[in-house]
Amino acid sequence: MSISIEGITKHFGSFQALKNISLEVPDGQLVGLLGPSGSGKTTLLRIIAGLETANEGRILFEGEDVTRLHVRERRVGFVFQHYALFRHMTVAENVAFGLDVLPARQRPPAAEIRKRVETLLEMVQLGHLAQRYPSQLSGGQKQRIALARALSMKPKILLLDEPFGALDAKVRKDLRRWLRTLHEEFHFTSVFVTHDQEEALELSDQVAVMSAGRIEQIDSPQQLYAQPSSRFVFDFMGNVN
Ligand code: ADP
Repeated sequence: MSISIEGITKHFGSFQALKNISLEVPDGQLVGLLGPSGSGKTTLLRIIAGLETANEGRILFEGEDVTRLHVRERRVGFVFQHYALFRHMTVAENVAFGLDVLPARQRPPAAEIRKRVETLLEMVQLGHLAQRYPSQLSGGQKQRIALARALSMKPKILLLDEPFGALDAKVRKDLRRWLRTLHEEFHFTSVFVTHDQEEALELSDQVAVMSAGRIEQIDSPQQLYAQPSSRFVFDFMGNVN
């Protein structure tokens, strides 16, 4: 499902966090939002999800204007940096909870939910931990559960906010591989936030480099290196070893 972002502006009081942002994400692509802290990445992601409203502009999913739709009605999967799992629920219950964002009439019957949870846990190879609680899992395992939960309602769009930021380098690498595997299986369109150049370059079909509420450049990772559009992009990408 394609995502069109058209002229999005966001103010927090007198501060302008996003300045007339436009961006096209074709169906099935993974687009990374890369930029320094405070450049507006998370705010843009939350506006796409419907967790935050823009002052101006429109969001379209596959040509349909969703700007006024509530987060539940947009049917996007969302993964947060700190997993946001429920501590009092088992792993299986946490994954099943992903379906609670659906309006009641769209929710599958209990038997199908059980089956779907089982399949998802197998996919992230955590079926054996279904009855554990989040406190008994490692960070990487928790984020795999969060991915399974986000995918439980079979979203066409998956949004991730610094999904691997809290994890160490080795686990981050494993999780990127998971994300790619899941992408092949589920065929979602994805926008993810990162401040890690390596992560953006490795995962993205296109990278949008943001600075002070604007997109400085959007291009394939190769193009960003070959033809940076500004000194800022050149310097920012230059941090990669
Ligand atoms: P990034 O994700 O690139 O670090 P954010 O989107 O989180 O940037 O924030 C962009 C700017 O907007 C920052 O200066 C931040 O302080 C400000 N901002 C974000 N959310 C709020 C809010 N709820 N109220 C006031 N200012 C905010």
